[in-house]
Parts: sequence; structure tokens; C-alpha cells
Amino acid sequence: MESNYLCPHCRGYLNIGDMMIFKVKQPSGKIGLIILHTDIENYNVQYNGAYKPTEGQKSEFYCPLCGKSLEDKAHKDLARIVMRSADGKDSAIIFSKIYGEHATYQVVGEDILSFGEQAKRYYLDPDWFKS
Ligand SMILES: [Zn+2]
Repeated sequence: MESNYLCPHCRGYLNIGDMMIFKVKQPSGKIGLIILHTDIENYNVQYNGAYKPTEGQKSEFYCPLCGKSLEDKAHKDLARIVMRSADGKDSAIIFSKIYGEHATYQVVGEDILSFGEQAKRYYLDPDWFKS
């Protein structure tokens, strides 16, 4: 059994197969759905052609089930969801909301694992992850 990805607010399941689905909004107010890969090191992104973000543009991420913002409390350019492993353990997955920026973090207990070429852009204080 694979890991599942959950909304931190409603605990709804965000993944189907190897896709995670989010509601997104551009600064212009344009809204759509975006699909990210469940392999957190795979930065393949799918969206409707009419939604296409430009490189470096931030989209706001929302849970498609409850509609709540997934913005991380400490970094407005990062979104935060929950990963539940096959053995039922939860960890936080934090990723950049900026299109084309590859920065993803997994918080497992006291450890922060980072992924992506731009992961060094954000300083992550281990203390604020634990909340
Ligand atoms: Zn939700």
C-alpha cells in the first residue's frame, strides 16, 4: 500500500493513484485545478491549458474538498499537507507554491528532509514544523 496525502483541515484524501489534486488561484483571481505527482521528487505538473501559470508565478493552494487554504503558517510561499504512510504514520509535506520552483520538505519527527534544486531558498526552523 502506498502513502496517502491528506488535507490538514478536513483530513480528506487529496490523492488518486499517483496524482494529488488541488484547487489553485492565480494573483489575477483565475481559478483551476492542478495535479501534482505523489512522488515528491517528481515535479511534473498538470493543469488545464487555460490555467497555465507563468514561470515564477505563485498560485494559492486550497483543499478541493473543504476549500480551506493550504498555506503554511510560517512561509506564505509554501503550502503544507499531511502524508500518511502505509503503516499509518503522519508526516508534514511542505512545498513551494511558486510555479517552476522545486522546493519540497518532509518533516519526520525531529528531522526535515529537503528535495528539489531550490530547497535551500527557504530556511526552515524545526520548531515551527511541530505545531
Ligand atoms: Zn480539506
